[in-house]
Amino acid sequence: MTSLSEIGEFGLIKRFSQQFLKDLPKEYTGIGDDCAIIPLNKKEVLLITTDMLIEDSHFIRNKISPFDLGQKSLMVNLSDIAAMGGTPVSAFLSIGLPSGYEIEWIDNFFKGIKSVCDEYGVYLMGGDTTRSPERVVINIVVTGKGIASEVKKRSAAKPGDIICVNDFVGDSGGGLRILLENLSYDVDAEYLVKRHNCPRANVKEGKWLSGFRDVHAMIDISDGIESDIHRLMESSGVGTEIELDRIPLSGELTRVAAKYGWNAHEIGVTGGEDYCLMFTVSEKGFNEISQDYEKEFKKPFYRIGRIKETSAGLKFFYEGKLTTLKKHGWDHFR
Ligand code: ADP
Ligand code: MG
Repeated sequence: MTSLSEIGEFGLIKRFSQQFLKDLPKEYTGIGDDCAIIPLNKKEVLLITTDMLIEDSHFIRNKISPFDLGQKSLMVNLSDIAAMGGTPVSAFLSIGLPSGYEIEWIDNFFKGIKSVCDEYGVYLMGGDTTRSPERVVINIVVTGKGIASEVKKRSAAKPGDIICVNDFVGDSGGGLRILLENLSYDVDAEYLVKRHNCPRANVKEGKWLSGFRDVHAMIDISDGIESDIHRLMESSGVGTEIELDRIPLSGELTRVAAKYGWNAHEIGVTGGEDYCLMFTVSEKGFNEISQDYEKEFKKPFYRIGRIKETSAGLKFFYEGKLTTLKKHGWDHFR
């Protein structure tokens, strides 16, 4: 008998997905990307994504305000639309609540949902409400639209591409550690906790990047670079080299890590829940796209490595030397 913890979340998805993928019309994209893709007409596609958050697994009730939780629940779904280069349209929210829950908590949760709907121009158009025996369960489905010729899949990375991320990574992982270890708050620690509890979906950035043919594959970082680069490698059938010293880290994370003796690079690569974009760009497009991006968004994106042939596997380098990582990205069954 094999237990779930042996094969892990991704082993499990692989195990059941093949039977459904094989029946799929070729113009559809099913299990295996940030969103499912269904053609609407010659030009446009429908994007659909869903994510679930469970109390004590994805959040701890007294460590996040209901407003922030509402925002985050929707934001993580919008992030998957961003990862395809799409524009979100509608949201459907199913929620399971223990009967003792205070109405004020629920009101504030929905205020968080509403503020993200307003900010991103998304409509909450349905859902389901049920009683849950003990813990809060939140599931959101988001739909979006994309331009068929521009949508970016995980499967499009090519050997020679430069791997980039568009924000600092590890802040969220650092913030989670502060929450879990009940560490004291200073300005830096507070910033990291905010980055954990209030992530941003990079919808504008994703849409902008998707307009370039030289941007090949894209994914949002939900489980950590180390884990999410595996998804990209498997989908694209490629290998990768990541340069740990190029991983962009915030001053806040660097200072907090120094204070507690954490390895900031390791947190940056394995922390997860950054919800920024990781994408691959052809060598020839890199300079122009990175300069234009900086003009457009008044901030840079960062190159962190290179796509290689499949046989190269996944290699990490630090200051040019081959190295290994201790911790691994988030997997829900391990
Ligand atoms: P993300 O982190 O972007 O939400 P994941 O990497 O977690 O996506 O999931 C990989 C793929 O597996 C996605 O296409 C997702 O829709 C699909 N998937 C995950 N769980 C299930 C499930 N229980 N049934 C069908 N598809 C699933
Ligand atoms: Mg994703």
